Amino acid sequence: MRRLVVLGAGTAGTMVVNKLRRRLDRTQWQNTVIDQDDTHVYQPGFLFIPFGVYLPDEVAKPRRRFIASGVDLSLGEIDRVNPEANTVVLRDRRVLPYDFLVIATGTAPRPDQTPGMLGSQWRRSIFDFYTRDGAAALADALRDFAGGRLVVHIVDMPIKCPVAPLEFAFLAEAYFRRRDMRDRVELVYATPLPGAFTKPIASAQLGSMLDERKIAVESDFLVERIDEDRKTLVSYDEREIPFDLLVTVPLNMGADYIARSGLGDELNYVPVDKHTLLSRDHDNIFAIGDANNIPTSKAGSVAHFSVEVFTDNFCQHIAGAPMAGSFDGHANCFVESGDGKGLLIDFNYDTEPLTGTYPLPGLGPFGLLREKTLNHWGKLAFRWVYWHVLLPGRPIPLPAHMSMAGKHLPDKEE
Ligand SMILES: Cc1cc2nc3c(=O)[nH]c(=O)nc-3n(C[C@H](O)[C@H](O)[C@H](O)COP(=O)(O)OP(=O)(O)OC[C@H]3O[C@@H](n4cnc5c(N)ncnc54)[C@H](O)[C@@H]3O)c2cc1C
Repeated sequence: MRRLVVLGAGTAGTMVVNKLRRRLDRTQWQNTVIDQDDTHVYQPGFLFIPFGVYLPDEVAKPRRRFIASGVDLSLGEIDRVNPEANTVVLRDRRVLPYDFLVIATGTAPRPDQTPGMLGSQWRRSIFDFYTRDGAAALADALRDFAGGRLVVHIVDMPIKCPVAPLEFAFLAEAYFRRRDMRDRVELVYATPLPGAFTKPIASAQLGSMLDERKIAVESDFLVERIDEDRKTLVSYDEREIPFDLLVTVPLNMGADYIARSGLGDELNYVPVDKHTLLSRDHDNIFAIGDANNIPTSKAGSVAHFSVEVFTDNFCQHIAGAPMAGSFDGHANCFVESGDGKGLLIDFNYDTEPLTGTYPLPGLGPFGLLREKTLNHWGKLAFRWVYWHVLLPGRPIPLPAHMSMAGKHLPDKEE
């Protein structure tokens, strides 16, 4: 028997085992996926918990339910990979040998990496919404907030879903307006980027939306520490931003076992070939989803599109053939903008988010970089698609590669 071991049963790892389960001969392959717990969370849903749209229980389900029969789900914390011996060691000392390894342990917020963040103000006036319990605690804090300065903050890039903090700022603005207290809340968006987003056209569009909503932008802000006594963010260049309520996205990092195993970069991401996701150092290790270092957004959509390409490539690779598929960095994401509207962005390694329609030229029905009610409904409907189509590895009628159909090139814009 040949052994495939997948590390992480989140978005990417679950899709990988479910798709490969249909492709690999059961009499020849033993497939195992490992995760530290049995609760699969729908992370895009975290955005809505602080505003009472979803309850924490509405974004979680047992992992086991989504793993195809014939795949062994092992629960346990991964302690180390020994790439020379081709083994994975769990914290409880179990040792799992592999012939091929897929690393899909994602990225996680690390509030411990910023001095002062986990001090006396943590979950009192400092919150995050990148974890389920953080988002739930923030729902209480927002409900009780009587007014003052709310700062939405990103420690550093890359973060998963880089538009999520912008969406939070837009939704917060609408939330306070709805509660008739917008004039009592000063909103500030503090980012390490020079503008609202990583790519110029989207950055200009999203930046003007922040302006319209009177959300002040503090750009190029790289936090050094949080002064908890003065409730103030302090940057390396000695700028200060005081807050009454801080909603931060802590530094995102890959899992610590990746560093212990000598497999990662300085943020514990696994260096891979950006077109095949094969490790740069090991011919039998792939890294998929947020766990790798490819230069596109860390997003569920990227996990999905890349798994489509990876599945065929993997089957060729284990047969000793060259991998024919080439992942193009395709990402797309709905961007909630408040008041029941949203935008959509669609891009890849070479093409930044452009205006236009998606997926059909002229017809859409979704609007690219344009606020539309339908984009908002698309975002909400995605939760159902995630559980019922994406995770089981069922086909979605959208190409894995980005298409230029429906997109307006910048020089053609009126
Ligand atoms: C607030 C928020 C909003 C988002 N919105 C969107 C969106 O609108 N659109 C979009 O496309 N994406 C969005 N994302 C991003 C998306 O959720 C992630 O990019 C996606 O889940 C990545 O999948 P993954 O499999 O790489 O990692 P994950 O789904 O995070 O899975 C990693 C798994 O590895 C396990 N693991 C980690 N370390 C260990 C260990 N040492 N031992 C055992 N198991 C371990 C974890 O338990 C986890 O199950 C959002 C994320 C957040 C936080």
